[in-house]
Amino acid sequence: MKKIIILGSTGSIGKQTLEIIKKDNKKFKIVLLSTDKNIKLISKQVKTFKVKNIVVTNKIKYLVLKKKLKYTNVFPDFKSLDKRIRGKVDYTMSAISGIEGLRPTINIIKKTKRIAIANKESIICGWSLIQKELKKYKTEFIPVDSEHFSIWSVIKNYRKEDIEKIFLTASGGPFLNKKIKKNISPNDAIKHPNWKMGKKISIDSATLMNKIFEIIEAKKIFDIELKKFYILIHPKSYIHAIVKFKNGLIKIIAHDTNMKIPISNSVYIGEKNQNFIKSKKINFKVLNSLDFQLVDIKKFPVVKLLKKITKKDSLFDTVLVSVNDELVNLFLKKEIEFLDISSKIWLLVNSSFFSKFKHQKPKNLAQIERLNEFVRLKTRTLSVISKKK
Ligand code: NDP
Ligand code: MG
Repeated sequence: MKKIIILGSTGSIGKQTLEIIKKDNKKFKIVLLSTDKNIKLISKQVKTFKVKNIVVTNKIKYLVLKKKLKYTNVFPDFKSLDKRIRGKVDYTMSAISGIEGLRPTINIIKKTKRIAIANKESIICGWSLIQKELKKYKTEFIPVDSEHFSIWSVIKNYRKEDIEKIFLTASGGPFLNKKIKKNISPNDAIKHPNWKMGKKISIDSATLMNKIFEIIEAKKIFDIELKKFYILIHPKSYIHAIVKFKNGLIKIIAHDTNMKIPISNSVYIGEKNQNFIKSKKINFKVLNSLDFQLVDIKKFPVVKLLKKITKKDSLFDTVLVSVNDELVNLFLKKEIEFLDISSKIWLLVNSSFFSKFKHQKPKNLAQIERLNEFVRLKTRTLSVISKKK
């Protein structure tokens, strides 16, 4: 039986991973699941999959569940996983949202033969640290973000020097063909036309910040220069990436708008008897009307940030993630407007206060986490002050 860990099992990616595993239950044994506060759902998951270990990071919810569950070990954090889990598991899905996923992702690498990472914030902020652990413990890595999984699956047999250009597609989110007015509610902004995802990534798709993050993510994972990446609007989200090679070949990667495709591939890849998920027929109607468009910078001003990204690994990537995380949080709490997200990111990351981090390399996990706390606090304070003015 394949031993499995899912970090963030109560989220959108976590739940889809469990659905795939449930269909082929006899082959798998779930060793550890985690949630922040959704103890109702994780209790169900414990029952369905007979899970022995879970982590509940929210302190109050942890205490509640610890009392209730008699036959399951309930832990408040991801510390000393070495002692909690014997040997190595076969597969881990890293699907906590936000930079909070970085520490658990780094800690789990030594305990797993393969890690599939959906948590893009941890790749953006801590890729150099993740990569070090992957090498040290000989852990195999598979990217799960659909664009990255697509690119990964077609460039394996090429040298990165042979790649001329890579296009990442973006649906354009709920406001592509609408005027972005004042007073947009969080509910309107999370209504993604093609994907059902967690709140944070849905807002990032509406501002297009998600694509900025994905370019940083791709640049790091594939170690390809920033200038080779482009964003292309593609409202149907059927094509995920286009890779143009120097030999003239162009690979266009399409799949249904279903995250179970990259997820199930990350679970089964390399196996003889794969339990394929049901995919739809090739959609020629969509292929006949792909409707690629260039990005309207006036509508999606965050795209200007591409010019600010550093070529080399720097702490500025953490600044970008943390400023955006906090602004999205403030928007979800209705403390700032939707349009403020883009304008404030631009102002904040260009301030000398934050731009100095372009020249600093990430050294360790604690430094990245401290910077995240600091940037979020500063963003919160500055946003509230400017609102009062
Ligand atoms: P969700 O918000 O749906 O789920 C997040 C998961 O992380 C939940 O289990 C949540 O627990 C847990 N969590 C949240 N905060 C904390 C914390 N502070 N400490 C520990 N656990 C926490 O997110 P998604 O599943 O949509 O996304 C997960 C990651 O995958 C993100 O980084 C996202 O960018 C990336 N991704 C997602 C895609 C998608 O289609 N959804 C596509 C590509 C990438 P609780 O339920 O208690 O809140
Ligand atoms: Mg994506």
